[in-house]
Amino acid sequence: MLENELLSKHTSFKIGGPADLFIYINNEQNLSDILKLFNLNNIPFFVLGNGSNLLVSDTGFRGVIIVLDHDFKNIKLDGESSLICGSGVSLSQACIFAMKNNLSGLEFAYGIPGAFGGALFMNAGAYGSDMSNIINQATHIDLDGNINTLNKSDMNLSYRKSLYSEKNYIITSVKINLNKDSKENIKSRMEDIISRRKSKQPLEYPSAGSTFKRPVNNYAAALIESCNLKGVSIGDAMVSPKHSGFIINTGNATAQNICDLINLVKNRVFEQTGVLLECEVKTLGDIKI
Ligand SMILES: Cc1cc2nc3c(=O)[nH]c(=O)nc-3n(C[C@H](O)[C@H](O)[C@H](O)COP(=O)(O)OP(=O)(O)OC[C@H]3O[C@@H](n4cnc5c(N)ncnc54)[C@H](O)[C@@H]3O)c2cc1C
Repeated sequence: MLENELLSKHTSFKIGGPADLFIYINNEQNLSDILKLFNLNNIPFFVLGNGSNLLVSDTGFRGVIIVLDHDFKNIKLDGESSLICGSGVSLSQACIFAMKNNLSGLEFAYGIPGAFGGALFMNAGAYGSDMSNIINQATHIDLDGNINTLNKSDMNLSYRKSLYSEKNYIITSVKINLNKDSKENIKSRMEDIISRRKSKQPLEYPSAGSTFKRPVNNYAAALIESCNLKGVSIGDAMVSPKHSGFIINTGNATAQNICDLINLVKNRVFEQTGVLLECEVKTLGDIKI
């Protein structure tokens, strides 16, 4: 258990003030017990995945940050072509595991820097696929400490949305269905995806990936570029010159800098194109976008 742990150490933006408490939980039973305790005593808490879709306020979080560790990092084969992954397993690690077992379908997620809990919560996706295409079922714990399983049809998965973002369910493990293919084919698709990411995305700077959701029949990056916002900055927060859909931290950006830049971009794009951009990045602490 850590006190006043700086959340900038745990977010891909490298931004965020201290959390009152920061705890690692090792298994479902401990998670269930602690959720009951928090619920009973009205203790605010937040479940952190890999922190790759998160803007944490400069003043941090008044409550407890939960990180799912140990048992939640297990990954195993289930039958011929399914995997069961703890919610703390990183997507890229699972991609490599799947490839080594001649299982295809997860390649789209190679290079998304999240873990399975955050990926299902967000219905993360890229290159024509997303979690909804591979998920079979997932186990979660509710605020009363009950452990339950949901099938895909009950998860309300849509573009970057799920039932988990509406309810306070903590995802503990997911079962995904994949297809047999050769290691060579899978590896070459993974390499192709990584090289496309490296050539198009500003991976050399801290960010939270695409800042905005894709508007209907449009692209956030194209709209932002058409408003001459590429490279515009506030403090050390900048609209990436490489990919306008990313806001990057070029040094010591504060959460307020990022927030102000997001609002500048939203306002300018709305004034000039009539499209209201919606943030994909989640926030934590006293910050409003
Ligand atoms: C360079 C870069 C590239 C990216 N590319 C993509 C991309 O191509 N496609 C894409 O979709 N995203 C992309 N992202 C965004 C991000 O990686 C994904 O949204 C990812 O799925 C978030 O997972 P995480 O574990 O980091 O979640 P976090 O950022 O830690 O959390 C996100 C939300 O999920 C919740 N959460 C986390 N774990 C659990 C759990 N076990 N139970 C319940 N709720 C939970 C958190 O409370 C929070 O609300 C990118 C980010 C970066 C930095």
